[in-house]
Amino acid sequence: MRTQKIHAFILKKTPYKESDFILQLFTLEKGLLSCLVKGVRKNNKWKSDFELFTLIEAEYIIPKDKNSLRKIISIEGSSPIEKDFGYNELLSISVISEICLKNCPEHHPIERIFNLLYYTRLSLNADNKRFLIIFLVKFFSIIGLFPEFKHCGVCNQQISSNVLWNKQIICSKCNNVQEENLDFTEVKVLYFFQMNDFQNCLKVKMDQELKNKLFNKVCKEFLHHTEKSIKTLDLHNDDFM
Ligand SMILES: [Zn+2]
Repeated sequence: MRTQKIHAFILKKTPYKESDFILQLFTLEKGLLSCLVKGVRKNNKWKSDFELFTLIEAEYIIPKDKNSLRKIISIEGSSPIEKDFGYNELLSISVISEICLKNCPEHHPIERIFNLLYYTRLSLNADNKRFLIIFLVKFFSIIGLFPEFKHCGVCNQQISSNVLWNKQIICSKCNNVQEENLDFTEVKVLYFFQMNDFQNCLKVKMDQELKNKLFNKVCKEFLHHTEKSIKTLDLHNDDFM
């Protein structure tokens, strides 16, 4: 019996049969992966309670057919939640899980996404609109959906004024449709989020108007390109921001 050890974030758990779970994981070693955990609800040998976004170390049996479910035989969960998460943090977690599940390839490791999830988890913050802007900019920059925000994608000159964001960043000189949808302040904030670590990004002061504008633009841009709706994002209306 050949086994493999993995480090993984739990993105989704689904009860299966009488006492089993199917876990959808983002792993350091294999990227997205679905695994079966048997007998969870029958006995207490599992240390983890499989809360969403828990970081676990697990071992599974390597299946003969690489596409079949891996059966987990041991699991060590880190403490799932070091502090009490409120409603806003839990909402952010549900968005992050859904985005990873819909946009990461299966069986394809992306170390930068794993690291992003690690720091995202450490930085969970009640100001979830700002938190999610930072996450979305970082996530979609890593998978190549968002452009680098500092230079014009056409002439490669450094940006110094308002731009058009349409897949790439287009400066006012190269922009022949005479339309701009990001002002210079927004470009600078997006570039800062792209380049700096999560904790420093959270220190950036943004008033409500800037937050709302950036949130809408960032969401619109990736929804436009991925054509995958993110159900949990619809919960993020202004009523509870
Ligand atoms: Zn240009």
